[in-house]
Amino acid sequence: MAEYDYDLFIIGAGSGGVRSARLAGQLGKRVAVAEESRPGGTCVVRGCVPKKYLVFGAEYGKSVKQAEGYGWEVDANPRFNWPKLRDAVQDEVSRLSGLYAGILEKNCVDFFTERAEFVNAHKIRLTTSGKEITAETILVAVGGRPWMPNLKGAEYAITSDEAFLLDRLPERVLVIGGGYIACEFAGIFAGFGVKTVQAYRGSKYLKGFDEDVRDRANKLQDINGIENRFNVSPKEITKVGGGYKVTFDDGTQIGTDLVMMATGRRPHTAGLGLEKAGVEMDDLGAVKVDEFSQSSIKNIYAVGDVTNRVNLTPVAIREGAAFIETLFKDNPTAYDHSDIASAVFTQPPIGSVGYSETDAAAKFGADNIHVYQTDFRPMKNILNGSEHRIFMKLITMGNNEQVIGIHMVGDYSGELIQVLGITVKAGLTKADFDRTCAVHPTLAEEIVTLTLRS
Ligand code: NDP
Repeated sequence: MAEYDYDLFIIGAGSGGVRSARLAGQLGKRVAVAEESRPGGTCVVRGCVPKKYLVFGAEYGKSVKQAEGYGWEVDANPRFNWPKLRDAVQDEVSRLSGLYAGILEKNCVDFFTERAEFVNAHKIRLTTSGKEITAETILVAVGGRPWMPNLKGAEYAITSDEAFLLDRLPERVLVIGGGYIACEFAGIFAGFGVKTVQAYRGSKYLKGFDEDVRDRANKLQDINGIENRFNVSPKEITKVGGGYKVTFDDGTQIGTDLVMMATGRRPHTAGLGLEKAGVEMDDLGAVKVDEFSQSSIKNIYAVGDVTNRVNLTPVAIREGAAFIETLFKDNPTAYDHSDIASAVFTQPPIGSVGYSETDAAAKFGADNIHVYQTDFRPMKNILNGSEHRIFMKLITMGNNEQVIGIHMVGDYSGELIQVLGITVKAGLTKADFDRTCAVHPTLAEEIVTLTLRS
């Protein structure tokens, strides 16, 4: 039997990689991780975590103004200090990244701050030191990277990676895209007082979400002072003085100080040498895996965004844990990707779990589903002047009215959808919601008093 340097070598110290390394280390396996950046991956270093802090920062600006409705006289002229928030967030990112390094150390995992590339199915090469390492099993957990279309002047645009580190805030920004990242960052910039335009090639943001949610996403951005431009795709970016001019396919142009492209992400597999190991990838460069996260090569697995299944941090963590069960515990485990709740951190946020109405009708037949929904102004906003409302939609299926989808727009949606996700996963019915007593006065109580949409 061949003798390898490690039982498991992991490429990428993000959410999926670190969880897998920790669990394998706890089992006494010989484990190593290589990471070309800092431990923590997209979520900790340039994604969910710093983004959420920026959202908190943007919301404070609104709170100061809204407090007047509750009797507060805010005398001073509040001004936003971007470098102060940016640096505080980066300090926290460094602290968390250090914690991730600590997790690896504590579990006796060897850590290489170097890029690793495949030499063959059992051997990788560290590109800085040139060191070659063999492993019985290799896990690819390299995540994704921002992607932008190949348009003239694309080099002038930033992506979310750079948005966290801006020297100074621009006066005007143009955010291109209509997905999670575009909607969240347009909200962040607008919240900081930047004159923000969001340009999207479709007519409703958040493709794939429930149509009613998408309508409200458009409205929500509008209420936040974002200028929405729909049905336009960028064709060219040119530099004009200290700013930029973006020309769209309909011939219109927008002048701005900063262009941020949020046009999607792609698996980070270019140059990784996967083809030398014989690993199959799809057209976008995602590692093709089966339900156990095993690639086309028996000893090579992949978890997280590099597989382009459901690109969310908690999913990568669950896939990593399932992989360790399968590999080292003689317990083949396939992570169930159905009914995963998620939130878009617009201001206020959007929460969603299960089927959209359109998908539910297509799958089960329009006659077999029922839709319950409400749209109201939350109590808090009566006095503070905010125009934001709450939208809740609950979709049931079959005679027993099993709840198969819940969608929310409005305050606390991100928090509530986490809990509501349990009800969908557990297969609860509308009757279970109905016999649950309300907590009054809360906005969440409406979820147990919903009536059929008329
Ligand atoms: P998305 O795929 O969500 O959005 C990409 C956007 O770019 C879409 O609106 C798309 O349009 C548009 N687009 C794509 N190609 C072009 C083009 N050539 N020209 C113009 N527009 C284009 O990607 P994101 O980058 O926003 O996010 C990536 C993933 O990261 C998400 O899907 C999600 O899984 C994860 N994520 C999750 C977050 C959360 O949980 N809160 C936050 C951030 C990211 P169209 O809609 O027409 O396809």
